[in-house]
Amino acid sequence: MPNMTADIAALHAARKATGPDACEAEAGKSSDRMVEFENLVRKELELIGEDPSREGLVKTPERVAKAMAWLTRGYELDVAEVVGDAVFEEEHESMVMVRDIELYSMCEHHMLPFFGKAHIAYIPQGRIVGLSKLPRIVEVFARRLQVQERLTEQIAQAIQDVLQPEGVGVVIECEHLCMMMRGVEKQNSRTITSALKGSFKTDPATRDEFLRLAHGPRR
Ligand code: ZN
Repeated sequence: MPNMTADIAALHAARKATGPDACEAEAGKSSDRMVEFENLVRKELELIGEDPSREGLVKTPERVAKAMAWLTRGYELDVAEVVGDAVFEEEHESMVMVRDIELYSMCEHHMLPFFGKAHIAYIPQGRIVGLSKLPRIVEVFARRLQVQERLTEQIAQAIQDVLQPEGVGVVIECEHLCMMMRGVEKQNSRTITSALKGSFKTDPATRDEFLRLAHGPRR
């Protein structure tokens, strides 16, 4: 715990030390990137047989570039930063679970959305994290190009790293637009992935309790 607090303090100090010049340079770089992106979208519109200069499409490249930056903002986020100082010493030793965390991501094979729910649980070992931070950890990894399997693993690993708990379990259930609106057109299929660490992997009773809670009936 003292180590992590020190790391976060160092990170914030480094951010402050970069000053306005660095910020301006960064802003310049990102606006160059947006212009390049808009040009690409204009090209893409042409390639699908559209006329990028028609009224409805004139502002589309700019909108797509902005939307894409938003949908992939996870690349700019990191777990230590989103968790901040919301890790607390606590002797609670039973399972903590947050279920039905909304999740939106994009598959890296087709760059089409997949979306659904994440269920996260852990058994603390001397420290807990503010509950609102769990959805934010999901965002860090969901807002990138992903495969659902890796997303699940990365969330579990991040919680493992931040809290060093006795165990962690993550279940994600999603619908993938690349399956629903193209190719096989399996419109009602859901993909379910799980990642289990520590006692969630080694202790059948813990694992069963978690999976029962994760898949149990909704209120
Ligand atoms: Zn896909």
